[in-house]
Amino acid sequence: MALEEYRKKRDFKKTPEPAGVVKTRSGRELFFCVQKHLASHLHYDFRLEHNGVLLSWAVPKGPSLDPKTKRLAMKVEDHPLDYGEFEGVIPEGYGAGIVMLWDRGTWTPEVEDVDAALKKGDLKLTLNGFKLKGSWVLVRTGGRYPGARGGGDRSWLLIKHRDDWSGDLDITEFAPRSVKSDGDFEDILAQDTPAVWMSNRPAKGGDAGAMFAKIIERAAQLQSDRTASATSPAAQPTTTDTNDTKNRKRTTVRRRTTESPKKAQRKRAK
Ligand code: MN
Repeated sequence: MALEEYRKKRDFKKTPEPAGVVKTRSGRELFFCVQKHLASHLHYDFRLEHNGVLLSWAVPKGPSLDPKTKRLAMKVEDHPLDYGEFEGVIPEGYGAGIVMLWDRGTWTPEVEDVDAALKKGDLKLTLNGFKLKGSWVLVRTGGRYPGARGGGDRSWLLIKHRDDWSGDLDITEFAPRSVKSDGDFEDILAQDTPAVWMSNRPAKGGDAGAMFAKIIERAAQLQSDRTASATSPAAQPTTTDTNDTKNRKRTTVRRRTTESPKKAQRKRAK
């Protein structure tokens, strides 16, 4: 019934607009993504499209392809659908840090009723991303899992089912970079303003603090290299031997990773 008003206003013999059909849930392609988020701690935000929003879980250690490795996933607030394509720098405030679009694609519930599954605390699903594929389950633990900090019913586990896409490959190590830009955290920060945290980093101590220190330094270097090569002739190699340099072009080596999806695949995922 949702398209009744839309249809009432149009004569489809006269407009090229689609009459449209209300799609049933089964078989519909739903968006999913994982955003790698370096904030006060490094974590991976796992998001599933459902009823027009992104259901979200923060997974501190990131997804594991090994069915024996259950990963704590803290349920967090729903996010808008648009958020699923976001990658960039949050300079301050809630979630201050760097967000990388680490994986994206579509997901399919393996159950008839997603709301009932969520209520029950047992959602079986299939992922079709660039990095994460096959069958998975999200199971609510009721806060009994050690490591859940005051979790109550926010505490879930993300577990890979055994199939062709499971294995002991550490996917977060093997494919650490963005599926959107192919960049790492420092590349994303270098697109922005690396100086933003010179005096006041989102995390000062621990692993995250150390990561920030390195990333800020590398990003600043990347940015100054880029500025130098774009503006300063002094950055060009200088020599009196013009024959030697005349035909030589400055080349930049673009880093590649095995995770890098083909352009065509990217388009198809949109
Ligand atoms: Mn987050």
